[in-house]
Amino acid sequence: MTRFAAAIRAEAEAAWALMEAIGDATREGPGITRAAFGEGEQKAARAVTAWLEERGLPAAADPYGNLHVRWPGQDPSLPAVGAGSHLDSVPQGGNYDGLAGTVAALAVLAAAKASGTRPRRGLHAIAMRGEESPWFATAYLGARLMLGRSTLAEIGGLRRFDSGRTLREHMVALDLPGAEGAVLGPKDLACFFELHIEQGPLLEGAGLPLGIATGIRGNLRFPEARILGEYGHASAVPRAHRRDAVIALSELVLEFDRFWEGRLAKGDDNFVFTIGIVGTDPAQHAMTKVPGEVRFSFNCGGTDATVIAAARELLLRTIAGIEARRGVRFELGPEAGTPPVALDAGLMAKLEASAARLGHGTRRLPTVGHDTAMYCLSGIPGAMLMVRNQHGSHNPQEAMEKADFIAGAETLAYAMLEAAG
Ligand SMILES: [Zn+2]
Repeated sequence: MTRFAAAIRAEAEAAWALMEAIGDATREGPGITRAAFGEGEQKAARAVTAWLEERGLPAAADPYGNLHVRWPGQDPSLPAVGAGSHLDSVPQGGNYDGLAGTVAALAVLAAAKASGTRPRRGLHAIAMRGEESPWFATAYLGARLMLGRSTLAEIGGLRRFDSGRTLREHMVALDLPGAEGAVLGPKDLACFFELHIEQGPLLEGAGLPLGIATGIRGNLRFPEARILGEYGHASAVPRAHRRDAVIALSELVLEFDRFWEGRLAKGDDNFVFTIGIVGTDPAQHAMTKVPGEVRFSFNCGGTDATVIAAARELLLRTIAGIEARRGVRFELGPEAGTPPVALDAGLMAKLEASAARLGHGTRRLPTVGHDTAMYCLSGIPGAMLMVRNQHGSHNPQEAMEKADFIAGAETLAYAMLEAAG
C-alpha cells in the first residue's frame, strides 16, 4: 500500500467519524436539522473547522460563509482541483445529504497532507452553505453567491420560512460581511467534483456502491397552476353540461404518465413527472358538487433539454384539447423551472477509472439539482460521484453504509489526484 493509499483510508475513516459526530450534534427529534445560515449549519461549520485544525489545515470562510481549505500544488499558478458539497440539511432530514461530500473532500486534502503528496495542481475543498431550497425557497445560496450566479442585492431579501428573517439578517447574525459578487471562478478552479448520496434506489437495486452522474436534471415547473370549471349539482347536471375541473386535471395527469411510459419504452430513464399538490377549495367543495376549481403543482424534469421542450409542447397541446372538450380554463401561473446542466465527460471518465482501479463497479445514472450545477454554469467543468444509500433522502431514515462512503472517498481521491496531475 502506498503512503497515500494508507492515508486516504485512515482519513476517510476519520471523516466518517466526524460526520457521525456532526449528525449527533444536529439531531432534533427523529431527524437531522441543519438550518441554512442558522444554528445546525453553523455547528457543522465549527466541527469541520476544528477537524481541519487538528490536521494543520486551516479553513477560511469566504464573505458568504462557505468554508475553503487549500492544499497547494507544485505549480501555484495553475487553477486547483475542487471538491465539496453542502453543510445544511432540509428540516428533519438525514445526516448524509451534503455532509458526505463535504467530509469526503476534506479527507482527500487531509490524506494529501499526511502523506506529503503534492500534485501539480493544488487541491481545494469547499463546504457550502444554504444548498437546500426549503429554507429560503431558493437552492444553492452559498454556491450561487460565491460564484456570482446571484448577488446579495438580488437575493439578500429572501426570507427564511421558519424565522421570518432575511438572508442578509441571517448573515449579519453570523458575522458574514457578504461581498459585491463572485469570490471564486474558473481562474481559481480547473474543475469541481462532488460526492453525494444517490437519494434514489438504483445503486441499491443494482448491487453497486457507486454511480457516475450523467447530467443534472432540469425541470419545467408551475407551482401554482389551477383549472377553472363550473360548480354544479352532482346528481342533477348531465355529463355533457359539466365543466368538471378535477376530471380535466385527471386527463392531464394520465397524458403525462403515458408520455413518461413512452420515454421509458424508448430507453430514456431520465424523465420524471410529479403532480405533488392537488386541492379543491374547502370553502366551496362538497361531495355533492361538481368541482368548479382545482389547484395543482406541475413538475416534470429531465437531463435532456429537447425532452423538456417536448414536454412543454405536450402540456400546451393537452391543455388546449382539454379546454375545448371540457369547457374549462387552465391558468398555469408563474413558471419556476431550471435548464438541465451537462456534466463533464472527461471528469466522469476519471471517476469511472478511479473506481475501477479500486475494484468498485459503477453505473451511470442521472441526478437532480446539486451545488455542482452552479460551478458548471460558471464555466468550471463538474462531475458527480453518487454513493449508494438506503431509504432515499430528505427524511430521517436516510442511511448509508460506512464501507460505501469509504469506497466513495477513495474513488474521489484518485480522480482528484489524476485531474491534478
Ligand atoms: Zn444535497
